[in-house]
Amino acid sequence: MSISLSNVDESPVTFVEEVVLPVDRLDPEQVSGPFTVRLEGRVLPMDGGYLVDGSMEAEGQLTCVRCLVPVPWKGKDRFSVELRHPLDGAHEEIELGAGDLDVVFITDDQLDVERLAAEQVMLNLPMRILCQPECAGLCPRCGANKNQEGSCQCEPEVDPRWESLRGLEGRPS
Ligand SMILES: [Zn+2]
Ligand SMILES: [Zn+2]
Repeated sequence: MSISLSNVDESPVTFVEEVVLPVDRLDPEQVSGPFTVRLEGRVLPMDGGYLVDGSMEAEGQLTCVRCLVPVPWKGKDRFSVELRHPLDGAHEEIELGAGDLDVVFITDDQLDVERLAAEQVMLNLPMRILCQPECAGLCPRCGANKNQEGSCQCEPEVDPRWESLRGLEGRPS
């Protein structure tokens, strides 16, 4: 899905779009289900390209970093993105201004809505998501989810610090 930018030079274009992003448009390591993303914003002409600003609201499923179960997640944020035409043949360094402005290079006069949505979701994902603050994680021996009572019968791991103390016992002093 994309928005044509060729009319933007005459007047700003406003848009409201809702897209569904599959896991592979995001990060399969962090995301366990499709995301619904609503984008609302406007496109303004600027020197060498366009400025897109607006807000996004996203809803989807992340993966608990300890036990790997899906965890529902919602987020919203404002964004401001510069769309620029690449300079012909030149690999000039673009100096980024202060603030949250991102620069995206475009090769045609189209705004790729799904790409914009995916970038905004990735920027807003938490560093670490847990299904619950005290998530017990997976058993290192059998892989069972230890949050579920009776999910595994493994002996508890012996703390290596106790193990080394035990080795000291019975040694002649
Ligand atoms: Zn968990
Ligand atoms: Zn186990």
